[in-house]
Amino acid sequence: MPHMEPQQRAMAINRLLSVGQLDLLRSNTGLLYRIKESQNAGKMKGSDNQEKLVYQIIEDAANKGIWSRDIRYKSNLPLTEINKILKNLESKKLIKAVKSVAASKKKVYMLYNLQPDRSVTGGAWYSDQDFESEFVEVLNQQCCKFLQTKAEAAHDSKQNPMIQRNSSFASSHEVWKYICELGISKVELSMEDIETILNTLIYDGKVEMTIIAAKEGTVGSVDGHMKLYRAVNPIIQPTGLIRTPCGLCPVFDDCHEGGEISPSNCIYMAEWLEF
Ligand code: SF4
Repeated sequence: MPHMEPQQRAMAINRLLSVGQLDLLRSNTGLLYRIKESQNAGKMKGSDNQEKLVYQIIEDAANKGIWSRDIRYKSNLPLTEINKILKNLESKKLIKAVKSVAASKKKVYMLYNLQPDRSVTGGAWYSDQDFESEFVEVLNQQCCKFLQTKAEAAHDSKQNPMIQRNSSFASSHEVWKYICELGISKVELSMEDIETILNTLIYDGKVEMTIIAAKEGTVGSVDGHMKLYRAVNPIIQPTGLIRTPCGLCPVFDDCHEGGEISPSNCIYMAEWLEF
C-alpha cells in the first residue's frame, strides 16, 4: 500500500486487528500481519491481541500441539499471562490440552476440533499414556503363531523346498486381517501397526522379511511393492550382549558418562534392571 500515509495504514491495520480479520505474528525483523480465515475471525471476535497471538501459535502447531513453554518463547509473553489466556481459550472450547506420551507431566495445546497426532497419543500401543505392554505381547504372540502355522503347513505339503519356502510367506495384509478377525484389539489397528509388531519379531530373530514387486492395486501393496514375512528358526541363540539394552541401542555411539545420553540416566537400562 505505497500510496497510503503510514498513519492511515496503521489505522487500517489496527481496525482490521480489532475486528479479528488479521493475525499478528512476530518475526526476527518485526511484526507480520496475515489475513485470517473467516471462521477464525468469527471465533476470536472480542479477544485482545495477546489472546489472538497465542491462538495463532497454537493453530500453527496443528495436531502435534505445543507446550506452554514454547508458546512463551514464541509469543514473548509472561507465563502467568499465557496461563490466563490458555484457561480462557479452553473455557471457550477454542483449544484443548492433551497429555503427551512423551512426558507424563506435560500437556500440549491444540485447536479444540483436532484429532491429536500419533506422536502425542502414542497410537494404538498407549491407553491413557500407559504403554499397553500386555496387549503388545499378545499381538506379538498371535502374529508369530500365524506365521509359524503357515510355515508348518508349507512344510507338511511335502512340495519341493523352493515351493515350501515361498508358500510359507504371508503379507502384512494377511497378518493384519487375521489379527482383526481374532477380535483381540479394542482399538482399530492399521497395517502399519501390525508391521511394527512384525518388526519386533524380526529383531527377535523369529521372523524374516522380504520385499517383492507387486502390481498396482494388489491388496496389501504400497507404492508397487509388498512386504512378505515368514517364521524362521534362529540358527543360533542371541548372545548375552545382544540381550542387554546396549546391545541394540540406536544411540550407543553417543552414549558416554557425563554426556547428554549416559548410562547413569538411561531409561532403557533402568527398566531392564528392574526385572
Ligand atoms: S546405557 Fe542406555 S543409552 Fe547408553 S548405550 Fe546402553 S542402552 Fe543405550
